[in-house]
Amino acid sequence: MKFYKGINQGDHYLCDRCNVSKLSFNEYTNNIRDIENSNEKMRYCDECRNYIILKKWKCTTCNTMGTNRNEREIEIKHCNELVIFQ
Ligand SMILES: [Zn+2]
Ligand SMILES: [Zn+2]
Repeated sequence: MKFYKGINQGDHYLCDRCNVSKLSFNEYTNNIRDIENSNEKMRYCDECRNYIILKKWKCTTCNTMGTNRNEREIEIKHCNELVIFQ
């Protein structure tokens, strides 16, 4: 397997976004995004993945939709009610 082969040769894989985090095997295999018009793929550490993937929410009272980049599960209120994350 490419990942372990590289690791065994002393390489490490850095996150393609922050270039700081060394990717774990799970991050390397799960946090993949295709690059348009390319066979290359981007691989992200968990923190960057959480930043990149937007969470959608919807207010059940007025049907306003929104997105939230925050990696933490935070509570968002709209019309005095907690919104539902989808
Ligand atoms: Zn990263
Ligand atoms: Zn609302």
